[in-house]
Amino acid sequence: MERECGWAEGLIRTMKASIEEDPQQGKSNLYAGSPPLMVASNPILRTDESGPPQGWLFKVRPMDGAWRDIIEDYTGLPTTLSMVDAPIDKEVAVTITGNTIQAQRYIPTYPHNEQIELGTHLNRTSYLASLETFRYVLLWTACLMLLVIALVLFLLERIILKPLRTLTQFTQQVSVDSAESANLIKRTDEIGVLARTFQQQFKHQKQLNAELIELSTHDALTGLPNRRLFDQRLQEVINIALVTGQPLSVMMLDIDHFKLFNDHYGHPEGDTCLQRVAQTMHDVATNQGFFIARTGGEEFSAMLPATSATQAIEKSEALSHAIDQLKYPHQLSPVAPHVTVSIGICQFDSTALMTPTALMTAADQALYAAKAAGRHCSVVYTPSLANTPFSSHNTPP
Ligand code: GH3
Ligand code: MG
Ligand code: MG
Repeated sequence: MERECGWAEGLIRTMKASIEEDPQQGKSNLYAGSPPLMVASNPILRTDESGPPQGWLFKVRPMDGAWRDIIEDYTGLPTTLSMVDAPIDKEVAVTITGNTIQAQRYIPTYPHNEQIELGTHLNRTSYLASLETFRYVLLWTACLMLLVIALVLFLLERIILKPLRTLTQFTQQVSVDSAESANLIKRTDEIGVLARTFQQQFKHQKQLNAELIELSTHDALTGLPNRRLFDQRLQEVINIALVTGQPLSVMMLDIDHFKLFNDHYGHPEGDTCLQRVAQTMHDVATNQGFFIARTGGEEFSAMLPATSATQAIEKSEALSHAIDQLKYPHQLSPVAPHVTVSIGICQFDSTALMTPTALMTAADQALYAAKAAGRHCSVVYTPSLANTPFSSHNTPP
């Protein structure tokens, strides 16, 4: 046993000397040797840490090759460890030789104050090369990031922003058929869905608007333009006549003894008769190039641009003739066995600057004269009719 642990003899002596030097305190020291040792001593005390020490615990770690490997692993630096005989008066030494930096740390040992030299060296070339590589990588990373940002912006522009701009234009001028609009409609993403929905909504809206305009400007029973549209157009054709100096005539037409018709055949049959008469007059007006509207119950008005009163008489006769040809039975009519109309005509007088109302009032007075003259005829307004009452006493449809 003594022989087996003989190697520790010197060490144990040093440990004992260390205890005698300071019998209470534990301490850590480096012991010179081959290899050098790291030694930590602790007094063994009671649980409440009161003395005197019952003994000593020494923990010894040899600073051998295995320890160096651990240090090298830990620091990533090559490590050297050696004993220096001569006393060294400095703790650290750094020397640069060529491309190598040599660093040494001198640590005194116990108890003889010999020095342990712990050293390492750095290769400056590889350090500078790593720095260069680091800069190179940094530059490439920055370039790559810029490239990625540019790519993201490009995709953002292509996938989101451009389609959104096109969608905005599309919504502003959805009726315009452009290649871009067509592409937008074909898209399968949300923007395409939005564009298609918008287009449908727009078409629906357009259809509703057209229906609304039709309803507000046309008569529901006969489908002819109503008084609202007639008045609007009359003002326009009067303006044109004033500018061009061309003649302009208007007519007022009224079905003769229609009350008797209703009384005899009933109101629904009266409606059908009104539809047939209206359709017939509309066909004639379309053929002859003038505009006709239903402006009262069984009362119609026509405006004939570029037409004098004399020419208007011919057109009124064409209208009356077409209605006669219908031979729509009217047994109670004292005028004829079928439905007939009376017509009042007036030519626009640009010198007197007639208002639309004055023009239609004059045509109405001519109509009254036609009724008074026995019905089923046309009368042209003359100033002598100015004081006659109006013929129309229908309420608007
Ligand atoms: P006149 O020859 O003097 O014009 O005689 P009239 O009977 O035609 O004139 P009156 O003003 O006395 O009667 C017009 C009639 O037209 C009375 C009204 O019931 C009828 N009427 C007006 N609007 C409509 C309608 O929308 N449908 C039907 N069925 N009848 C209508
Ligand atoms: Mg009538
Ligand atoms: Mg009438």
